[in-house]
Amino acid sequence: MKELLRQIPKVTEFFHMDCIATLQEQHSTTAVTEWIRQTLDALRQAILQDTCSAVPSMEELCRQVVARAQRDAVPSLRPVINGTGVILHTNLGRGCLSKPAADAVSEIARGYSTLEYQVEAGCRGSRHDHVSQLLCRLTGAEDAMVVNNNAAAVMLILSTLGQGGEVITSRGELVEIGGSFRVPDIMELCGCHLQEVGTTNKTHLYDYERAINENTRALLKVHTSNYRIVGFTESLSLSDMVALGQKTGLPVVEDLGSGSLVDLEHYGIHDEPTVQHSVRAGVDVICFSGDKLLGGPQAGIIVGKKDYIAQMKRHPLARAIRVDKMTLAALQATLHAYLDIEQAEREIPTLSMLAATPAMLQAKADTLCHMFTEQGIPAQVVAQSAPVGGGSVPNQLLPTYAVALTPAGITPNALEAALRQRALPIVGRISAEQYLLDLRTLFPEDFPYIVRTVVEVVT
Ligand SMILES: *Cc1c(COP(=O)(O)O)cnc(C)c1O
Repeated sequence: MKELLRQIPKVTEFFHMDCIATLQEQHSTTAVTEWIRQTLDALRQAILQDTCSAVPSMEELCRQVVARAQRDAVPSLRPVINGTGVILHTNLGRGCLSKPAADAVSEIARGYSTLEYQVEAGCRGSRHDHVSQLLCRLTGAEDAMVVNNNAAAVMLILSTLGQGGEVITSRGELVEIGGSFRVPDIMELCGCHLQEVGTTNKTHLYDYERAINENTRALLKVHTSNYRIVGFTESLSLSDMVALGQKTGLPVVEDLGSGSLVDLEHYGIHDEPTVQHSVRAGVDVICFSGDKLLGGPQAGIIVGKKDYIAQMKRHPLARAIRVDKMTLAALQATLHAYLDIEQAEREIPTLSMLAATPAMLQAKADTLCHMFTEQGIPAQVVAQSAPVGGGSVPNQLLPTYAVALTPAGITPNALEAALRQRALPIVGRISAEQYLLDLRTLFPEDFPYIVRTVVEVVT
């Protein structure tokens, strides 16, 4: 082992090699030195772990250095092709922005902007103004503000309205949204005491009434966006909760989770409330995500009564969780499309994907399948179902169509792994021993790349 370690070449020796000289034409000496160091470190580790019996030739080590340089050129955060059929795929970045939203981000990111500047008056403005009017117009709310994400929105609301007192929530709504974000823990973090009422399956008006005391600060309703309690159940209706809030002078807060601006009943999705419905019911403060069913950027949107929003804007936490100009640019463009619902459905990928009918998906699947068989890849169109994802719309699967690939000489698992490890990865799923590409989340402009890549992998 000592002998092998002694044989490891010095960094300087590499600079006499031709391929390193070529690398230096395109990269700084610092960068090239780092790739050489990494290569030699890996070799040293292999020797120490006894997995290397001979030091490779200089040519082979140079090849490894170049391979490292090539690997570094590919960013770890990069596009993938989503063939899973899951529209809001959390691991794949939830949804896709519309083209106008992506263009707005690019334009605003590249230069200076009116982020906090009023051009008419030539004085300081508020970043909230870029979206609050649109949000009020779309939801019917008095005022609105936007923060980093909905988890942050919940924290801001509870910290502002609940601190030092009690917030009443039904035992059926003590949600965990994942990533250790649990309603009871968040309450504690925000300095309020959670007053649980009712049982897992039933909470009545009298449960809330009995729990209210002089320390109560707010009534909280959490949309059970990622699970459903079914069977012998009862929860307080929004209108009863608002009536109770008005009678007692307590603010009613609702965390809608996904927060749709369109009635998803049109797309065959049931029990997903709209933001407008909660505003109309008289809820004082409502929060929801920008990048779930809305189809915009990651953001936490808060709409509601002017006084409460004003209090939240003044809270120190608001500064810590404020949104940046790129988020606001994307959100403004996304919300703008909602002024015309047909435009929104055309432009916003999340909505177009939700709106795609089985017939449309089958036609898309036929096209892709035909492209595969023309290239000699055995493929067939299969009817499937897939969840919406993103912790939204639980227990409901959308009917969809997929192309099943069954090439000879490669297992579904091997095909899946090979397609996933391309520079532009293709992520599909395996079901019943078949590799599937679901058409709901595929863009037709990617079909030629997908077919070409499968042909490369298979042959
Ligand atoms: C998803 C969700 C959140 C968190 O939203 P993010 O925008 O992901 O931070 C909060 N509450 C509920 C009920 C949710 O479903």
